[in-house]
Amino acid sequence: MDHYSLEAWMKYVKNELEEEDREAYEDHLYTCDQCLEIYLEAMEEEEQALPAMPREEELTNLIMAQIGVEKLRESPPLISAEEQKQSSAKVTWFERCFPIAFACLMLIGGQVKVLEDTKGKTEKLK
Ligand SMILES: [Zn+2]
Repeated sequence: MDHYSLEAWMKYVKNELEEEDREAYEDHLYTCDQCLEIYLEAMEEEEQALPAMPREEELTNLIMAQIGVEKLRESPPLISAEEQKQSSAKVTWFERCFPIAFACLMLIGGQVKVLEDTKGKTEKLK
């Protein structure tokens, strides 16, 4: 089983992880005493590292950084939506052409069959 490093747990404590990672860490924590100890160690280090009160400037930076992160989180779906549009345009181009080509083949095939049928019928009529 892979264990998480102290650095990794520090990230967890500092809330610097993605939601998926946090869940994975938490799941691991339930089953691993070794990491639970490291986690508690990380908690202690974090508590010591934290100043009693963050200075106003730092707080503003923190909030600004948080807003920046939120914006970053919001923008990727927009980009991917644009990319999806482009890729779906390619797909629809192919999807449009394929049925047409297929329909043409069916039509030609059908006409050939009809011709053969009429041939057969006229031959039978004779
Ligand atoms: Zn572990």
